[in-house]
Amino acid sequence: MIDLKSKEDIEKLKVANRIVAEILQIIKEETKPGMTGIDLDEIARREAEKRGVKPAFLGLYGFPAALCVSINEEIVHGVPKDKPIKEGDIVSIDFGVVYEGWYGDAAISYVVGNKISDRKKRLLEGVEKALYAGIDKCYPGNTVRDIAAAIEGTLKEYRLAPICDYGGHGIGRKPHEDPHVSNCVANAENVKLKAGMVLAIEPMATLGKRANYYRKLKDGWTVVSKEKAIAAHFEHSVAITEDGPIILSKLD
Ligand code: MG
Repeated sequence: MIDLKSKEDIEKLKVANRIVAEILQIIKEETKPGMTGIDLDEIARREAEKRGVKPAFLGLYGFPAALCVSINEEIVHGVPKDKPIKEGDIVSIDFGVVYEGWYGDAAISYVVGNKISDRKKRLLEGVEKALYAGIDKCYPGNTVRDIAAAIEGTLKEYRLAPICDYGGHGIGRKPHEDPHVSNCVANAENVKLKAGMVLAIEPMATLGKRANYYRKLKDGWTVVSKEKAIAAHFEHSVAITEDGPIILSKLD
């Protein structure tokens, strides 16, 4: 069942998602070589506490941390680890909070330090562009499949391998609501978009050769590239209105 949100609901979701965006930005700015995923998780917890919100992922389906930290060939749902982060690593962080019962959810990927190879630059640019191509389809009357087609088409343009089995979702009073928002057309539902839907859109892809080629680590969570290809993941929560999309998890 798809839950449609009122204008007031969307205002609450905007507050939750802006907090997520602020905290992601702080973590990105504070990431230095030598820090670990656990250090980043601690920043997320500290900043959530300062703002009086609850980290949404901690304990969700049993997830053991506040922040998902996926480094290099880790694609998504990375459990923060004790391993030092190096200059040139690609870090993907996915964070959620609960504010007055409403959920915020967003993710960013970035390189640590100032040096970046052309391939990693193509990866970051391609996945972020795919996210915005998907958001550009968020008009009433379009379908979830249109979002998937825009994402997949952009990833292809950038010669990136999409991950199809993981994707976006509705968001509101629950962290994951209907519909599922696939990153690939073949998996996409033909659900019509309506004003009042709020969707978390989250393309992820690797620099590898094969689409949807991954495995899970023994921790039961961290999804890694089976061909050890570097990955990136970007996510925004977006409200669909009669006038088009409003990105809720964006800083002005
Ligand atoms: Mg999400």
